[in-house]
Amino acid sequence: MASKDPVIIHDPNQLAWQTIAGRAIADPKDLPDRLKAPPGAAAVCRAYPMSVNPYYLSLIQAPGDPLWRQVVPDARELSGTLTDDDPLTETAQSPVPGLIHRYPDRVVVLVSGRCPVVCRFCFRKRLAGRAAASLTDDQVDAAAAYVRAAPAVREVIFSGGDPLMLEDDKLCAALEKFAAIGHVETLRIHTRTPVALPQRITGDLVVLLKKFLPLYVNVHVNHPREITAPAEAACARLADAGIPLGSQTVLLAGINDDAITMEALMRALLRIRVRPYYLHHPDVVKGTGHFRPPINRGLSVMRSLVGRVPGMAVPRYVIDLPGGGGKVPLLPDYVVSSETGHLVVKNYQGKVFVYPEK
Ligand SMILES: *Cc1c(COP(=O)(O)O)cnc(C)c1O
Ligand code: SF4
Repeated sequence: MASKDPVIIHDPNQLAWQTIAGRAIADPKDLPDRLKAPPGAAAVCRAYPMSVNPYYLSLIQAPGDPLWRQVVPDARELSGTLTDDDPLTETAQSPVPGLIHRYPDRVVVLVSGRCPVVCRFCFRKRLAGRAAASLTDDQVDAAAAYVRAAPAVREVIFSGGDPLMLEDDKLCAALEKFAAIGHVETLRIHTRTPVALPQRITGDLVVLLKKFLPLYVNVHVNHPREITAPAEAACARLADAGIPLGSQTVLLAGINDDAITMEALMRALLRIRVRPYYLHHPDVVKGTGHFRPPINRGLSVMRSLVGRVPGMAVPRYVIDLPGGGGKVPLLPDYVVSSETGHLVVKNYQGKVFVYPEK
């Protein structure tokens, strides 16, 4: 089975991931004194669960820092003006429980409601961190039956919650059911564990995942400080197993919506063999409005990346349309004017060029 590579074990206490997850703080009053929760946090937790595991907690340096703000409840979650907890109409686009079918050729299966940490800005705030939102075996069977009867579906994306919070046997059983469908060409897992609970990426898990190639793993990462030695080791083990890694980052007001932080994050991802994939503008989800920067901010962050960092490190900046319209990429405008026969454009330095069309 798994080689016992010494690089694997980075947790100082060498605890199993289940133990680390099991020791997550779920009540603001249990935060260490140095990281006091803000007033109102307890009331927030009655609406939206809190969960900060000891590993992620160890990365937080001070109250209000970019990691603290991602996971510590904030009273604004209850007072915002957004009212819809499912603006992307995922529930309406769900032909069977836990399966979202929006694009013709791919489906999302919300296999697990559990998360390595509960992110306050989560666009699935209605589900995240709730074990009860995990699918039962029968529901996984029903989702697989739906895909079997839908020959246009070529990719199954496991999401949640976090699919890697399932135990290996459950995860393997779910992957097997979809991998066995003839027209399913690729599988994909969306997970935050490599950076929020890197101990989850065990030797056994990697052996298990390797059986399902072509399998893609997209890692949800939001800040350069999440890219620690253990996170790097977790990604290395996945990459070494032949699993292509991509990233998903949420543009978060005051956390990573500036050129310096985003550049550091994208370069760090490339360095650990994670190819930047999406930079998501936060969705219009109830309880998360205080995380939403203006679109212009995202465009200016993109402008700061394009041309200045390797193209491999430039993610696609996307909005996801309310009403279930899907993702739309946004780019800063490089075209100054378009005239017959030529295009006037600005390059990454802001210099103007005329590009002949013929
Ligand atoms: C984002 C998303 C996908 C995957 O989209 P890609 O562009 O292939 O990454 C699929 N289905 C739903 C419902 C989604 O929200
Ligand atoms: S963003 Fe992912 S890990 Fe974070 S709460 Fe949402 S589903 Fe869970």
